[in-house]
Amino acid sequence: MAKKQFKAESKKLLDMMINSIYTNKDIFIRELISNASDATDKLYFKSLTDSTINADKDNLKIKIDIDKDARTLTISDNGIGMTAKELESNLGTIAKSDSMAFKKDNAEDKNLDDIEVIGQFGVGFYSSFMVADKVEVLSKALGSDEANLWVSEGVDGYTVTPAEKETNGTVITLHIKESKDGEDYDQYLDQYGIQSLVKKYSDYIRYPIVMEMSHQVPDPEKEGEYITEVSEETLNSMVPLWRKSKNEIKPEEYNEFYKQKFYDYNDPLLVIHSKTEGTATFNSLIFIPSQAPMDFYSKDYEKGLQLYSNGVLIMDKCADLLPDYFSFAKGLVDSADLSLNISREVLQKDRQLKIISKAIDKKIKSELAKLLKNDREKYAKFFDTFGVQLKWGVYADYGMYKDGLKDLIMFKSSQSNEYVTLKEYTERMADSQDKIYYACGSSVDQIAMLPQCEAVKTKGYEVLYFTDDVDEFAIQMLSEYDGKTFANICKDDLDLSTDAEKEALSKKNEENKDLLDKMKNILGDEVKAVKLTDKLGSHPVCISADGYVSLEMAKVLSQMPNGGNGIKADLVLEINSEHPIAKKLAEADDEMLAKYTKILYAQAKLIAGLDIDNPTELTDSIVDLM
Ligand code: ADP
Ligand code: MG
Repeated sequence: MAKKQFKAESKKLLDMMINSIYTNKDIFIRELISNASDATDKLYFKSLTDSTINADKDNLKIKIDIDKDARTLTISDNGIGMTAKELESNLGTIAKSDSMAFKKDNAEDKNLDDIEVIGQFGVGFYSSFMVADKVEVLSKALGSDEANLWVSEGVDGYTVTPAEKETNGTVITLHIKESKDGEDYDQYLDQYGIQSLVKKYSDYIRYPIVMEMSHQVPDPEKEGEYITEVSEETLNSMVPLWRKSKNEIKPEEYNEFYKQKFYDYNDPLLVIHSKTEGTATFNSLIFIPSQAPMDFYSKDYEKGLQLYSNGVLIMDKCADLLPDYFSFAKGLVDSADLSLNISREVLQKDRQLKIISKAIDKKIKSELAKLLKNDREKYAKFFDTFGVQLKWGVYADYGMYKDGLKDLIMFKSSQSNEYVTLKEYTERMADSQDKIYYACGSSVDQIAMLPQCEAVKTKGYEVLYFTDDVDEFAIQMLSEYDGKTFANICKDDLDLSTDAEKEALSKKNEENKDLLDKMKNILGDEVKAVKLTDKLGSHPVCISADGYVSLEMAKVLSQMPNGGNGIKADLVLEINSEHPIAKKLAEADDEMLAKYTKILYAQAKLIAGLDIDNPTELTDSIVDLM
């Protein structure tokens, strides 16, 4: 009997499938099971309106058989089946215009990315040729008297011949390739391998997927010996948790589901289960872990949510569904709109996914805001773990997302040990205060002890403590909150004084100009200026930064791979005009002044958390004076 040729387009795709270096061959099983499920659906829906069709729901199932010796894997359904004509038209051509359009663009260059796309969104039946060198499809259409067998060994064509089959449905037999060149095909003949693939990709197919599993059990007759017991097992759990209504689900169920599916030992901190209808209709089940995932800070970490179409896993980590600042979230999205559209959407830059991801972003934000409002303690725990991500989110992409995140970030402050939000800070600001004050440092304790902090606190102003590298960058990006700008108390232009105080200070600086210039010359390029100040309370000296770049930013930048492109802060050494040391300086001779100046500068740097260049010189000077 003559071999028939595949339609030209199909042939190209088939060729690509067979010869691809495609990494995820596993998905063939998902495709074949989905087809079996579709065929069963068709039969079932038909039976609803046609009483002559006997579709007892209890008998509808998908069966998998493994024959290791014959190297075959068989997938059978008792669905609607196909006639000879349907076998030809459905399996001899690619029905989907979407796939066709895609293929025209890509068939020429077999580049891995293109193949990934195909794999993710399915070319259905043809994927069986990734693992099989021969495929047989035995099918009997519902209501037909005859069955047919479709056979193909790949690109050179296929045959369709009359065959025997008692009941309606389809049996697909894959002749699994031999393992070679590091490609392991034997895994598709292993019952546990198949079991776990079914669990992974097809757990929520609504018909039972059954397989005969053999297990070693103790022999009841001979102690110490084992016998093989064979039993039919259902591999899939069938009802997706996320499709159940929320009030039917116990917290333990969510927790177990999360731990099993996302490989965590701990219960999630927050569960967000929602059903969305509108421009996009989908169910989503999202978890915020209570601890950072193990590999979260490694570069191997991949963000993303699982994407399901009608209960069938399409993609394990769909990165487009999560913004970077929520990269820690785990979970899944299931949409019925997707299955038919998705490959087209992917070609057209996935509009549907964009709508879904926007809705998810909004949902996570509103749930976090709710948590912040209703369970402060839990939110603080969340923030301890993932707060930095949100602050990076404020800073990222030129502040594109800052408005959605600014009310979710918090800082420690001079007020108490608790976190404070920007909203709370501005609401409890003193009437006379017009700026949001902050200071940067390596720890809350170190900042609290900064000389500048004392003066600001004396005024009754709260100071935010920035201990993360990203804090000040995020705040620069915000530039203001509720009309209030931010002020670094370690900047030299910090302005807390009255006009009279300012005048007095500027007079003092004028009177001591010679002395201050001398000190500046002693320190050379290290500092931009030496000044007298009245903002230090009981402390003798401090270092401040002049201009846009603060001390902390300069520190962070200098640790970056490119050294922050040599960006440095302009330093100002400030001397407390009220401190006895000021008088001592005025009375010192040149030699003493040089020593004092260097010691004071080194002290100020140490207090600010900066490194000093020459510790030996410093200690020598101090010992000298002693
Ligand atoms: P898709 O499922 O996206 O239509 P496939 O390549 O997976 O594309 O399948 C092509 C067609 O073959 C299906 O649309 C269906 O009509 C038919 N088909 C495949 N498998 C079966 C089956 N087990 N029973 C009945 N029809 C099937
Ligand atoms: Mg299909």
